[in-house]
Amino acid sequence: MAATDTLLNVEDLRKTFGAQGGLFTRQRKAVHAVDGVSFTLRAGETLGLVGESGSGKSTLGRLILRLIDPTSGSVRLDGQEITTLKPAAVRAMRSDIQMVFQDPYGSLDPRMSIGATLAEPLKVHGLYNADSPALIRDIMLRVGLNPDHASRYPHQFSGGQRQRIGIARALTLNPKILVLDEPVSALDVSIQAQIINLLKKLQRERNLSYLFIAHDLAVVRHVSDRVAVMYLGKIVELADRDALYTRPAHPYTESLLSAVPHPDPYDDRANKPAIAIGEIGSATQLPSGCRFHPRCFRARMLAEGGARADIAHDPAGIAVPARCANEDPPLRAHGTGAVACHFPDTAVLHRMPLTSLNRDH
Ligand code: SF4
Repeated sequence: MAATDTLLNVEDLRKTFGAQGGLFTRQRKAVHAVDGVSFTLRAGETLGLVGESGSGKSTLGRLILRLIDPTSGSVRLDGQEITTLKPAAVRAMRSDIQMVFQDPYGSLDPRMSIGATLAEPLKVHGLYNADSPALIRDIMLRVGLNPDHASRYPHQFSGGQRQRIGIARALTLNPKILVLDEPVSALDVSIQAQIINLLKKLQRERNLSYLFIAHDLAVVRHVSDRVAVMYLGKIVELADRDALYTRPAHPYTESLLSAVPHPDPYDDRANKPAIAIGEIGSATQLPSGCRFHPRCFRARMLAEGGARADIAHDPAGIAVPARCANEDPPLRAHGTGAVACHFPDTAVLHRMPLTSLNRDH
């Protein structure tokens, strides 16, 4: 896929929410949901965004659409800054960036027919005219819906068909970018494949750019050109898809890949778990230094190996390199992308063979 022109440029984007401190205190703690995120999205490409629940990936999607306002940072669409736009200009901008939600039923008004649902964005933007019914019929056909069913209501459609309606609605304004927030995770596996193939077809036809947010690494592998991995509000690794899946440089990426079943259980790589220790931390109390260090098997391995003279101790009293405990690693260029780790060349696991990366099956 040719993808060279930068369409979206996100720089040092931050979103901090205030959260109640606890039952017996009025003190509010800051939740650093998105904490200094930078990336670009090119015309016609899919950037996969992965991470556990609580990593900030859905908040990032909402910031890009200005569904919520950032605390600081920049988002430029085609060179235009959108974080400072007034409400009327935000509405106009949304014709270029649309969102598809995880729960298609929850995002559709049960009292509106599908025809009315698809006409609504055009009416909100003052674009509904005599040609619109034909446009709506055409979009229904393109997403695999029968245009004669435009008078039906959401409950008369299956889950997969409802997600097709969600995609059709996002396309009515002819956007350049779709933010797809877990678009197939609520669907059966067989339906997932149909929706993914539909998204790929629409991307080819319309040169759409996708920000594809998901926790399922197998799905992200199938659709993405590049992949960004988020941990506690920060991108910790961003690379071309094949490089990331075969040569992960960040231990958190290794952990996520390690959790994906290996196609050959007798392959040595299948028997090398690289599991993050414990659960994702709290965005109200970010660890010192590298935010991943309390869970990082690599840091422990490096300290145990005695290869590093400077040793500190993590919150559980486990020895880790002092740099891991004290210095927040910036996202630095590495291989085909970038990684936020002081020791990126000590990966222990190459989990996914290239042969399993055929995108066209
Ligand atoms: Fe692990 Fe240290 Fe790298 Fe952080 S900087 S990911 S703690 S090895």
